[in-house]
Amino acid sequence: MIQGERIGLLRALAAAVFCGAGLLLGSFPAFAETEMGAVYGAYVHGTGWTENYGDNTLCQAPQGGYVTAVRASLENQPAELTGTISYQVNLSGSGWLDWQENYVEAGSTETDMPLEAVRFQLTGQLAEQYDIYYSVYQNGAWTELAMNGETAGTEAMGLRVDGLRLAVRRKGSGVPEEPAGSGRVLDPAKPMVALTFDDGPSNATTRILDSLEQNGGRATFFMVGNRMSSYPSTVKRMVEMGCEPASHTWDHSFLTKLSEAQILANLNQMDDTLQSIAGVRTMVMRPPGGKINEASKAVLAKRGTPAILWSIDTLDWKTKNAQRTIDTVLATVKDGDIILMHDLYETSADAAAVLIPELTSRGYQLVTVSELAGMRGGMAPGHTYSSFRP
Ligand code: ZN
Repeated sequence: MIQGERIGLLRALAAAVFCGAGLLLGSFPAFAETEMGAVYGAYVHGTGWTENYGDNTLCQAPQGGYVTAVRASLENQPAELTGTISYQVNLSGSGWLDWQENYVEAGSTETDMPLEAVRFQLTGQLAEQYDIYYSVYQNGAWTELAMNGETAGTEAMGLRVDGLRLAVRRKGSGVPEEPAGSGRVLDPAKPMVALTFDDGPSNATTRILDSLEQNGGRATFFMVGNRMSSYPSTVKRMVEMGCEPASHTWDHSFLTKLSEAQILANLNQMDDTLQSIAGVRTMVMRPPGGKINEASKAVLAKRGTPAILWSIDTLDWKTKNAQRTIDTVLATVKDGDIILMHDLYETSADAAAVLIPELTSRGYQLVTVSELAGMRGGMAPGHTYSSFRP
């Protein structure tokens, strides 16, 4: 069931090594047997099956995408050992589905519902000699590794699986090493804050990105959708830097004045445009004016979107005074704050150019809202968040 391409490539590599060694040594060296590994893929809603991923690599949906099914198998399985990988998924609205194996899909390719959690196990003699480790990407972060039938992901919290990492190791050989591309490592013991910028993008956004890049920081940009096509390279750069592109609606509409259908159309127009510019969709939104009510929360819940407010309001848009913005933040900043600024004013970019290095030197990790939430218990669709305290 595994696509031949990957196995063909491994064989070609083995042959190349074999020939090279033979030429160099003039004899056939003894080869270590090729280690068994997992092969897997995910069905990304609206996109289709990913390519096949090899053992201990990160199979991740594009930002804003989510997984509705997975499939897995083994390569280089020792012929003398019986057994295989068996797996089951918790599909939102359906609960735990039947166990599957041999690259048969677990989940559904014809649903809008995301997976919420997964379990993997080895069967037969394999289970006596090997462990299987796995993690899912959820709420902007990779979960702790689960193993041998444990649950990875949350159940009945409305959180979706956005990626999968799977690794098989001989018993006693320890946990798998961190794979490449797992991103920067955040220290949960150190303080962190989320700088957030509303109403852009604009020319000021570029200077804020410069400051973040120089200091290894990230921020969240709650953009007004209809401004993005004037600054496409800025939006792309933001995404490439690992900053979080987020939604401030298409046209700065107050959610409380829109019908359900209008809210959905508005936010989808924002996401469709972002996808056409930068290939991603938003995970979180900030209601313009901070205005949100039970009706609009219910629409966001249906749509899978958390609403983000703030714990420090710099009033930068009102004072247009960089020093006052800086003083407001530095006088009150605490671990877990969400700081509200606007990347529409040069004075706000001036303030950011001071705040970003200063907060970094005070020991704060500058993280996106989704990163902060991922380190501090997560977020649920339709709920509002003003901070994520330790
Ligand atoms: Zn706004």
